[in-house]
Amino acid sequence: MDTDTFRQQAHVLVDWMADFVEEIESYPVKPNIAPDQIKKQLPQSPPEDAESFEIIFKDFVDIIMPGMTHWQHPNFFAYFPTGGSLPSVLAEMLISILAAQCMSWQTSPAATELETQVMSWLRDLIGLPKTFSGVIQDSASSASLCALLSARESSSDFQTNWHGMSQNSQSVKLTVYCSDQAHSSIDKAMAIAGFGRHNLRKIAVDDQLSMKVGELEKCIQADIANNCQPICVIATLGTTATGSMDNIMAISACCKRYKLWLHVDAAWAGNALIIPDYQYLLADVTAIDSLVFNPHKWLLTHVDCSAYFVKDEQILTKTLAIAPEYLKTVEADKVINYRDWSIPLGRRFRALKLWFVLRSFGIKNIQTIIANHIAWAKNLADNIQQHPDFEMMAPVSLSLCCFRYHPQGCDELSLLNQLNANLLNKLNDSGKIYLSHAKINEHYIIRFSVGAERTTEQHVKQAWQFIQDTAVTLNT
Ligand SMILES: *Cc1c(COP(=O)(O)O)cnc(C)c1O
Repeated sequence: MDTDTFRQQAHVLVDWMADFVEEIESYPVKPNIAPDQIKKQLPQSPPEDAESFEIIFKDFVDIIMPGMTHWQHPNFFAYFPTGGSLPSVLAEMLISILAAQCMSWQTSPAATELETQVMSWLRDLIGLPKTFSGVIQDSASSASLCALLSARESSSDFQTNWHGMSQNSQSVKLTVYCSDQAHSSIDKAMAIAGFGRHNLRKIAVDDQLSMKVGELEKCIQADIANNCQPICVIATLGTTATGSMDNIMAISACCKRYKLWLHVDAAWAGNALIIPDYQYLLADVTAIDSLVFNPHKWLLTHVDCSAYFVKDEQILTKTLAIAPEYLKTVEADKVINYRDWSIPLGRRFRALKLWFVLRSFGIKNIQTIIANHIAWAKNLADNIQQHPDFEMMAPVSLSLCCFRYHPQGCDELSLLNQLNANLLNKLNDSGKIYLSHAKINEHYIIRFSVGAERTTEQHVKQAWQFIQDTAVTLNT
């Protein structure tokens, strides 16, 4: 493609992008399509000869768009909405044209230094002490894996990296602790880091769905008595099912007593820490060794942008650094080489989008956006609570409401579960709103998560009305 064609097509795309944003509400949030429906429309093999951009773009509009779920739709309330905003789009455009590989300082000096700077801004904004250093990871899953690897290495004097787990005097099992509400990425990281999933202890939760720290301590003691070696506790701020919060203060005290690594998975809720009122959630930061949150979840920034903070950057780099000859650079001891801070070698220039977002919105506006989402969810929770046929199934947490439809007289668990699954499917198949579900103590619950940038209070209110109207059409 020559630059004249590029220029012309890019203008067409930008116009299409702006129209898309203006007309986004005319699209269904979730397409109502069958598996394979999109694939069937695609040829069996790639073209032998070049195709014009007009034809490719037409197929994008005709074939791909009807099969998209629209995460930027203001009526997207499923999972945790994913970040995005126009300044972040503009940054992504520049990131693409530079197509830089930001593995080392030398391969992208400005990207490295910008990353250091925006991560220290973020660290200060969420109330972590200046002793913490940050790095942008592709995902919270990778960050939590880095945390487990760091805990493993720092507990073995960095020897497991060389000798493998079997050298850890064979009979000693290394154990890790989280609540039974922790994210599945922790199970995955246990497997990948070589601890083994059976050695993840899932501690029961109290009626607020927060880890029972008394149980944690008992479990640690029992493991020690059984010749296991406790290594790490993973506390969750904002669990995925209901947004519940572990008590960092109490867990910290326990980690200090047993000298355990404390990793905080705050993938979604960590974004709210940029409002000082919520920083009490971190409470005692002195025992925290690492923390992750995803600006790509609630901070208006496109995926992938996961902020990982560590108290001691040396542990992270000693765990992950590998320096073959072809990666050595002359200024290595004077600069940061972020390839030593994460699992993949290759890194996109992710700091740019965070920089564009923080500057374009300004912190005050970002705080207001998040505070609004929280206020609207609180309001929704009040309405749900007051409704005779609906009930909240967990305390409202920041901008997440978990509820179910519970018409009077219909009390049997399996019936209620089926009824709510039917309700969710009917809501989602309408294309008007999109919600997701979870299960808590065998109860099927519907999650309503406010977080898309274009959502307004009106959207939340209309969605609630639509939920009520749809519920009464179900056969109970
Ligand atoms: C979303 C989420 C994750 C996973 O985040 P990725 O960036 O997709 O890996 C992990 N933990 C919690 C609590 C989450 O909400």
